[in-house]
Amino acid sequence: MDDRINTLQETLEEITLTLRARKDRGKPADYIPPLAHVSPDHFGIAVALTDNRTFMAGEADLPFSIQSISKVFTLTLALGMHGDALWRRVGREPSGDAFNSIVLLEQEKGIPRNPFINPGALVVADALLARARAPRETIGEILRFLRFIADDDTISADPAVARAEKATGFRNAALANYLHSWGNLRNDPDHVLGVYFHHCAVTMSCLQLARAGLYLANGGRNPATGRSVVSPERARRINALMMTCGHYDGSGDFAYRVGLPGKSGVGGGILAVVPGVASIAVWSPGLNANGNSHLGAEALEMLSHRMGWSVF
Ligand code: GLU
Repeated sequence: MDDRINTLQETLEEITLTLRARKDRGKPADYIPPLAHVSPDHFGIAVALTDNRTFMAGEADLPFSIQSISKVFTLTLALGMHGDALWRRVGREPSGDAFNSIVLLEQEKGIPRNPFINPGALVVADALLARARAPRETIGEILRFLRFIADDDTISADPAVARAEKATGFRNAALANYLHSWGNLRNDPDHVLGVYFHHCAVTMSCLQLARAGLYLANGGRNPATGRSVVSPERARRINALMMTCGHYDGSGDFAYRVGLPGKSGVGGGILAVVPGVASIAVWSPGLNANGNSHLGAEALEMLSHRMGWSVF
C-alpha cells in the first residue's frame, strides 16, 4: 500500500476536527420519529483495510440506524439465493428520482429502476421472503448474514425504529401495494414491509459497518475471517451499482466528488468502498436535500482526495 497509509490516522483525526467545527450540518431525517431526535453533532468515521488494520476517529464506536445501507447487504443475500434471475424483477439503472418516488413505477410497469431505491429494495425483500415461512425467519436470516460478514454477533435491529417506520411508512406501503398490483411482489405486502422496515432499522457503528463492507473491497472475501461471501465478479458488480445508484438522485454528484462506490442511509451513514484497499464507514446525521449525509459525503471527499483513493 502507498505511503499515505502511514498518516491515515492523522488524516482521519484532522477531517473529524474540521467537520466537527462546522455549523452547516444538514438536517436529520424527521419523517421517521426516532431519527428526528438524533443530534446532528455526532460524527464518526472508520476505515477497515484489506490487510486487516482498522483506523477510526470521532464516534466510530457508537451504533446508529444504518437504514438504506442495509440494501447493499440484502441485495448481496438475494443474489446469493436467486442469482441473475433477480434482474428480471429489478433493474440496474440510476433513477434520477427520490428514494421513495413512485413516478417511474407506472411507466416501467412495476419494475423498479434499481435495488437501492425503496421500490427496488421492497422487491429484494420479497425475494428474500420467498424461501422462508414467515417474515421473522427472513429478518433472522438477514441478521445472521450481517453478523457473519461483520464477524460480530452483537448486531441487531432496533424494534422501536422498525415500529416507527411501520407507523409512518405510508409511502412505502403505497409502493409495496403498487408493486403487488403489477405482480412484482409475491408475498403479502405487509410481510414484505415488515422485512424491509426491520433491515432498515439495524443499528451498527462505523467500525462494524466498515468491517461488514470489507468483502466488497476484497474481491468478495472477508480478509479478516478468510470466508468468501460472494464471487469477485459479483463484488465488482455490487460496487458498480453502488457507484451508479447508491446515493439516489445525488449519485452523480457523489461519484464526481468522491469517486468511490458508496451507499447512503437516511440515518446519516455512508458505506464507501475502495476496491482492493479499504471499506470506509462515516456517520453524520444531518442530511442534504437528496437525503444523503451532508458532512458524511464531505468527509469522504476529503479522505478520497488526500489518500488518492478515487477509482477514476
Ligand atoms: N427506511 C427508510 C425509508 O424507507 C430508508 C431510506 C433511506 O435510508 O434512504 O424511507
